[in-house]
Amino acid sequence: MSTTFARSVDEVVAALATSPKPLVVGGGTLCIPALVRGEIVPTDIVDLGRAGLDTIVDGPAIELGALVSYQQLITSPVVRRGLPLLHRLASGITGGLQIRHQGTLVGALCAARPQSDVPAAVVALQAEVLVRSAWGARTVPVERFLVGPMTPHLAPQEFVVGVRIPKSPERTGYVKHKFAESSWPVVTAAAVPGRVVLGGVAGTPQVVPLPAGVTVRTAVADHLASLPPGERWTDLRAPWEYRRRVAPEIAVRAVEQAEEAR
Ligand SMILES: Cc1cc2nc3c(=O)[nH]c(=O)nc-3n(C[C@H](O)[C@H](O)[C@H](O)COP(=O)(O)OP(=O)(O)OC[C@H]3O[C@@H](n4cnc5c(N)ncnc54)[C@H](O)[C@@H]3O)c2cc1C
Repeated sequence: MSTTFARSVDEVVAALATSPKPLVVGGGTLCIPALVRGEIVPTDIVDLGRAGLDTIVDGPAIELGALVSYQQLITSPVVRRGLPLLHRLASGITGGLQIRHQGTLVGALCAARPQSDVPAAVVALQAEVLVRSAWGARTVPVERFLVGPMTPHLAPQEFVVGVRIPKSPERTGYVKHKFAESSWPVVTAAAVPGRVVLGGVAGTPQVVPLPAGVTVRTAVADHLASLPPGERWTDLRAPWEYRRRVAPEIAVRAVEQAEEAR
């Protein structure tokens, strides 16, 4: 097994192109423990840590490099002004300083865990995922990138260079329900004008449109009632039935927060 500490995007591309089963390491907070436990057995390791991907670029949209940590999202004035929802999300990530400094938004996105804070929030913000490989570059809307639980739309020789997120400075809200200060979320709700996106209720984030004249509670309850049984999410924290019952209230709080942020 080879290990490449890539010093540029081109070096990442080259290392991935020749590897049958590579492991891309971002901050390593999820994949290194899994590697140590023997749950993943790659042919090669490609570490992004020195590839210069920890940049936040301001423009009509904000581009976050693959190595941008939660701590950078918390401290960046660009993110605080242009993407307050992400600032709020990052401030609520548990695991202490180490996870905040090492864990990345893009790593969480690529892990595609339904119980994570990140997927539903970036779907609400209509992020685009910037993918690179020896075949070239492609840009994927995040809803299409999240194919299923723990399943990103990525070939083994592809990697994510970063995400591009339209600025969304006003009227956004983010609320999560968890059982203890230190626990992962059970249900999350990210509110933007006209819709709320739920995490933790299905294998992929659920976009619930909020038409005029329908209450948030009703819109969410109806959406969840129509969710096919095979898509309902259950894990060790809570069964789907519990998630179904709390989600409307979490969504209401997120929408209220968005309205207060006007
Ligand atoms: C103690 C602890 C507490 C936590 N608390 C929370 C919490 O409150 N809420 C929450 O949502 N999450 C929580 N997490 C999860 C945390 O969000 C993730 O561990 C972190 O964001 C993953 O980022 P990373 O860069 O370390 O990913 P890595 O571990 O490096 O990678 C994760 C996966 O994504 C792949 N990957 C990473 N980067 C790329 C890339 N650029 N291109 C292609 N594939 C890539 C890797 O191959 C791997 O499969 C917690 C984790 C820990 C350990």
